[in-house]
Amino acid sequence: MKGVLSSTEVFFSLEKPEKVAETGVPSSAYVHIPFCRRRCYYCDFPISVLGDRVNIHTSTSIEQYIEVLCQEIQITPILGQPLETIFFGGGTPSLLPVRQLERILETIDKHFGITPGAEISMEVDPGTFSREQLQGYQKAGVNRVSLGVQAFQDELLGVCGRSHSSKDIFTAVDLIRQVGISNLSLDLISGLPHQTLAQWQYSLEAAIAIAPNHISCYDLVVEPVTAFGRQYQPGEKPLPTDEVTAQMYRLAQQKLESAGYEHYEISNYAQPGYQCRHNRVYWENRSYYGFGMGAASYVQRQRFTRPRTRREYCAWVQQLTEAGGAIDCPKDTATDVLLETLMLGLRLAEGVNLSEMIQQFGQRTVKDIWTCLQAYSHQGWVEAIGADGKPVDMGEAENFSAVERLRLTDPEGFLFSNTVLAALFNLFTKK
Ligand code: SF4
Repeated sequence: MKGVLSSTEVFFSLEKPEKVAETGVPSSAYVHIPFCRRRCYYCDFPISVLGDRVNIHTSTSIEQYIEVLCQEIQITPILGQPLETIFFGGGTPSLLPVRQLERILETIDKHFGITPGAEISMEVDPGTFSREQLQGYQKAGVNRVSLGVQAFQDELLGVCGRSHSSKDIFTAVDLIRQVGISNLSLDLISGLPHQTLAQWQYSLEAAIAIAPNHISCYDLVVEPVTAFGRQYQPGEKPLPTDEVTAQMYRLAQQKLESAGYEHYEISNYAQPGYQCRHNRVYWENRSYYGFGMGAASYVQRQRFTRPRTRREYCAWVQQLTEAGGAIDCPKDTATDVLLETLMLGLRLAEGVNLSEMIQQFGQRTVKDIWTCLQAYSHQGWVEAIGADGKPVDMGEAENFSAVERLRLTDPEGFLFSNTVLAALFNLFTKK
């Protein structure tokens, strides 16, 4: 559902979920449900278009896919711990009949186990679910929903090829609240064609008025293979200019923080206590299982992305079954792990922890990172934080030992994160 890329700082008053030590053994799983009624014009996700007329309750496509998906789960080697987070993404997971969702969760529980209190999130789209469906999902274990709002203007929803209207958004929120799912997240997109700063402000205000626990704001990236990619040239009208999208980013940070949301990740805001536990696993570069077409997994330092079409995915699961379930792909090198830790960790408001990095990658490597980032601290994009939570002057070399964390500033450092990350990438790939 998140067919766009994300493009944030908060002091240590931030309520951070406790950091979990990385063991290489996943306690999280992403499950891809690829079905959508139609393809939105900005979307390059691995999906399977059902059309408007298919009855989800009798669809053999859905039935067969879930069969193969459960087979993949059952043949995946169990590495040891029950799951603490499960995320149903898509696609449009809310096109799943309840019995299919129950079947997937039962299969996961039987195979890996699910801890009591696990976060079980599901992406849902306005206009795709009924009260009975939601009640069924909730009964099956779903306790967090992420609603794909994107914009509150019918004209912008039309421009994106979304199949819902602004009225559907409010109906969806009412249904979610009526069934008692109390952990709600909304997704919004900035930088859409024809979108004005005033429209973006209205969408932010409308989202704040709903008072969800979590809000994700993604900045549109025009992917070449999409309808948008064929129609629009990045940087050209009717796409907003870079200056306007930067203003949109700053406006979101300002409005959402004033409304009590912590900007805990470059594109994500949460009320205290409502950060997405599942997504933190990605940003902390911890392990996770992935199941389903196009899903990525990171298990024992092996990253693997499944085939992106249904036919290829089904054939791959067949081969995997014959091979006994083990995926054969190279492990990440030490440089891969270092770069991933930086690229992902710097997306978080708290940034990266230097003592942990020294332990993992050595003093010299971390000193190189410090030296590389000094230039950006002069620009106000990067800052060093001491153990007391106060900023430390990066201009003084001897301050290195006093630093606990390095992080991007909010909003400017986050806005220019690509430049900072490119410098780090160059530093370690040109050695
Ligand atoms: S709902 Fe739209 S954006 Fe989301 S996965 Fe389907 S086609 Fe892509």
